[in-house]
Amino acid sequence: MDTEEIIRRLPKIEQHVHIVGSTKPETLLRIIEDSGAETKLKTLDDIKGFFRYRDFPHFISVYSTVNDCIIDEKYYEQITYEMLESDAGCNVKHVEAIFSANDHVRRGLDYGEMLDAINRGIRRAKRKWGITCTIRVDLVRNYGPGSALTQLDWLRKKGDNIVAVDIGGSEDGFPPEPYEAVYKKARDLDLHLVAHAGEAAGPESVWGAVKTLGVERIGHGVTAASDPELLRELRTRGVGIETCPVSNLRTGAIKTMKEHPIRSFIKNGIKVSVNSDDPPMFNTEMNNEYLQLHRELGFSVDELMRISLDSIETSFLPAKKKEELREKFLVEYRGLVSKG
Ligand SMILES: [Zn+2]
Repeated sequence: MDTEEIIRRLPKIEQHVHIVGSTKPETLLRIIEDSGAETKLKTLDDIKGFFRYRDFPHFISVYSTVNDCIIDEKYYEQITYEMLESDAGCNVKHVEAIFSANDHVRRGLDYGEMLDAINRGIRRAKRKWGITCTIRVDLVRNYGPGSALTQLDWLRKKGDNIVAVDIGGSEDGFPPEPYEAVYKKARDLDLHLVAHAGEAAGPESVWGAVKTLGVERIGHGVTAASDPELLRELRTRGVGIETCPVSNLRTGAIKTMKEHPIRSFIKNGIKVSVNSDDPPMFNTEMNNEYLQLHRELGFSVDELMRISLDSIETSFLPAKKKEELREKFLVEYRGLVSKG
């Protein structure tokens, strides 16, 4: 078996993938036709052309247009199922998916019904491929801390399969510090803590997420690489970084893949995972993420396997499940390498 085929077959964990961002162009077109949503996107080519980004603000505006098209809770089942189908095809065993509930509640959709639809998609995927998936709710920083606290009340009433919270959205103009009380409340609700940081803003955004919010993982974290003291802090606290290499390239957070700081994170003793973020929107999937690291940054099969194992470690799975997965991953790995 050649090296790239081994990489495709390596067991993986996905820690950072947005459910809406996983809507395939074909599915988006079906949703638009079925729902009659008002949009200028009429054909598959329109949608594919629309998914080419100039920069991060442009990406956010595209993302928001896709949100506008999802005008019924039921579409969440199919989108979630297809997200997991793609992951299962890359030998991903467990996914921690991001749900930006309030983007839709403010458009009139029902929180509980969306969550039920997502969980139906998750159960169907598990029956079909054995893949497991939990949810983290992105409180979306643009709506402010008041809205985030309200969203935590929704979760308290109906938190089915939700294991963590996050603040995504526009880092510029929405620093982490005002979310201190929100994160404290989330911790009291036994939720794990993550924040998107260091993607569109500098290392100060990561500092805020770590020091003020006490996050366990950082989404993206690209700009943390420019601050050695911050890297030490991340290592000391055991904060993992969810890297999203292809996404970073497409939104312009890095100029070339060779610039991606993932190696520097690893050298500094930080545990990283590798993730697809919004796969169809960035024309990627988990196998492509791993392959890009191999082709552009020279990652070996062993190094990529180390990332898979570290991703189990920093996942929000219970200790017993982590242990089982580690065993399973190592058995598969030995099988692959002996054939290779
Ligand atoms: Zn993200």
